[in-house]
Amino acid sequence: MIEIENVRKSFGNLEVIKGVSMNVARGEVVSVIGGSGSGKSTMLMCINGLEPIDSGRILVDGVEVHAKGTDLNKLRTNIGIVFQQWNAFPHLTVLENTTLALRKVLGKSRAEADEIAIKQLEHVGLGDKLKVYPSKLSGGQQQRMAIARALSMSPKYMLFDEVTSALDPQLVGEVLDTMRLLASEGMTMIVVTHEMAFAREVSNRVAFFKDGLIHEIGSPKQIFETPERPETAAFLKSVL
Ligand code: ADP
Ligand code: MG
Repeated sequence: MIEIENVRKSFGNLEVIKGVSMNVARGEVVSVIGGSGSGKSTMLMCINGLEPIDSGRILVDGVEVHAKGTDLNKLRTNIGIVFQQWNAFPHLTVLENTTLALRKVLGKSRAEADEIAIKQLEHVGLGDKLKVYPSKLSGGQQQRMAIARALSMSPKYMLFDEVTSALDPQLVGEVLDTMRLLASEGMTMIVVTHEMAFAREVSNRVAFFKDGLIHEIGSPKQIFETPERPETAAFLKSVL
């Protein structure tokens, strides 16, 4: 599981995470909602060790992410992360982009890497795009490639940071469908999203971030139907 204990983090004088605690159990899908600048992306970066923290602890399967001596490369193969945009290497095909980390980070042979990557590309519906260059893909297909690339590392956890925010509206659905599929297969996921319908349908729990704090966390039903905090209600009113 992922255990986040009273984490604080500043950029210079600006404290952006102000004491966040949250556990995510295996198989759980937790959606993170909240306004821009509330610290959602920073929190995800801290979880896989892309950002240091000032105090508190983050444990992934009992391993303290920010402890000295933690093997961050190993940790990161366990935690896939997909961002709003991923700049694939333009001179490499979809398959080559997807096998890169398998070969360079995990040291797989080309044949082995191809086999794993093809399986994951088929899984996200890109089995017919293996030899295509990224510039020929739609935004939705590019995001599905990014998901396949992360899945190729056999992560136990997947973090999604507004992966549909840069997409044309008609392409959002195919990416959400891919995430729904992963959730239904039992993948443990933290999903930062503006897609309230997705958060409501797919999550086990929803966390509302504001000003570097989780103001409220609960079941989708509780958060969307009977928010306890006025801040949550106000946010939902502004987006729904
Ligand atoms: P969200 O993802 O909720 O929009 P972020 O985590 O991106 O919020 O940002 C939280 C705050 O931290 C914002 O005020 C943002 O400007 C600031 N911030 C984020 N990354 C950096 C950085 N690398 N350096 C300085 N400030 C940052
Ligand atoms: Mg963000």
